[in-house]
Amino acid sequence: MFYIIMIVIFLVSLIIQSRLKSLVAKYSKVPVASGITANEAVDQMLKENEVYGMVVKHIDGSLTDCYNSKEGTINLSDTTYNQNSIAAVAIACHEAGHALQDAKGMGAYKVRQAIAPAVNFCSTAGVYVTIAGVLISHFLERNLGNGFGYTVSTIGIVMYSVAVIFYAVTLWIERDASKRGWKAMQQFGWVSQDQLGAAKKLLWAAGDTYAIALASSAATLVRLLMMRGGRRR
Ligand SMILES: [Zn+2]
Repeated sequence: MFYIIMIVIFLVSLIIQSRLKSLVAKYSKVPVASGITANEAVDQMLKENEVYGMVVKHIDGSLTDCYNSKEGTINLSDTTYNQNSIAAVAIACHEAGHALQDAKGMGAYKVRQAIAPAVNFCSTAGVYVTIAGVLISHFLERNLGNGFGYTVSTIGIVMYSVAVIFYAVTLWIERDASKRGWKAMQQFGWVSQDQLGAAKKLLWAAGDTYAIALASSAATLVRLLMMRGGRRR
């Protein structure tokens, strides 16, 4: 059952990826009605929200756009930097949305920053510790006393939960950044009504990739809980 769910999640993630790519390809060719560039849009969005001192940087690649909190940079890729397509402006405004979250001290953003360094370790170690607990329950319970394996498994599950929380918070943050970016596009009238719809479609498709990461980690968590089972009496 677990494997079927994981295969379904994998297939859905492929669909989401290809849909996002085709939306980006499509809307990278259409300039926004106002002709504003991604960089100008970011500047205006930051100014309107009284966020100063951010640097907009050009980075290589496509869809590699990101906000760097440590350096205070909004990094825009080849297909975004100084471009005036719907995709470029939407993506740049999304990244500016992250800069606003950071500057305004959004709670979820702080939580994400705090747990980010531990996520890789917790998700990997969590699985192994849970399995170790299950093995202890099966083979060593008599020597180590009742419930020891169960306790070890529970520790593993708690560790893995950190990763699930991280993906949930990330999804929340990504949707919020898209909302902020999209609202700016609407408020400043950079795009036509039709283009506003296109921008929304694109931003939400990008956010769906985070939803699938959350679904996958949640399914793994359920699997770990099933492996551990109930406490033996
Ligand atoms: Zn983002």
